[in-house]
Amino acid sequence: MIEPKDADARRAVAPVICYPNDTLPVPPMDTYATARETAIKVSEVLVPVRDAACFRVKAGQFFRISSVQGPQVGDLNIWNANDLSERFYSGKSRALHGTHLTTGQRMWSSFPYLRPMATITADTLGWYGKDSFGGSVHDVIGTRCDPYTGNLLSEAQYHYCCHSNLTRALAAETGLSLRDAERHVHDVLNVFMCTGFTMDTGQYFMKASPVRPGDYLEFFAEIDLLGALSACPGGDCSSEHSSDTAACYPLLVEVFEPAEGTLAGWASPDVNAYDGSHGL
Ligand SMILES: [Zn+2]
Repeated sequence: MIEPKDADARRAVAPVICYPNDTLPVPPMDTYATARETAIKVSEVLVPVRDAACFRVKAGQFFRISSVQGPQVGDLNIWNANDLSERFYSGKSRALHGTHLTTGQRMWSSFPYLRPMATITADTLGWYGKDSFGGSVHDVIGTRCDPYTGNLLSEAQYHYCCHSNLTRALAAETGLSLRDAERHVHDVLNVFMCTGFTMDTGQYFMKASPVRPGDYLEFFAEIDLLGALSACPGGDCSSEHSSDTAACYPLLVEVFEPAEGTLAGWASPDVNAYDGSHGL
């Protein structure tokens, strides 16, 4: 392939940020912190290995995902509990915040809603930053392990990928058929997973998660949420997923309710204000 004479000059053009996020609404972290101090646990669910479980969080409550017995990655889906068509939009959350999420950043919902569904209020792996491979924790760049890609690459029929785990859990929670539930399963927040893109080929990579028992990621629910969390069959994702080979551990989800009056000034966000006319 022949390069143009000005190839180096074209490459040398400095990038600009696609979505400068300094005009995003600033989450009231101080209000959340004050409310969290008063919060008491109202429910919990232990997500079994190579399986998923659903949980419900009311707007104004907190939920925490914890590593409990060993290093384990979790694949998280969230929906508006009152309307499953509003769901987490991984791609737009990535465009707004970057490839990995941490404290102060948000899980945004799909069109035409595009509003914060949850705000991350605590991340015990926040110290990790970006490693020398370009890896970081809690990504919104992967999708979820699924039986279709497994079949495409190795003709496997494996049933306990995160996609299938989330599908079974949502069907059991809502009464939807497996086929109907599957349509609602979407790209995840990869909780505790350590990932990046290789420098040379730009391929998606994973490496052993730095998570240890006691670590957690905590969220404030901005709207009523239905969540589903899968304990990935990849375990800590140090070697492979989409099989029963990796050591796997459960994940704990706990929901906390703040004392009344501690969220003064906070209001559940409205749906996006675009008028929806699309030029017509
Ligand atoms: Zn998985």
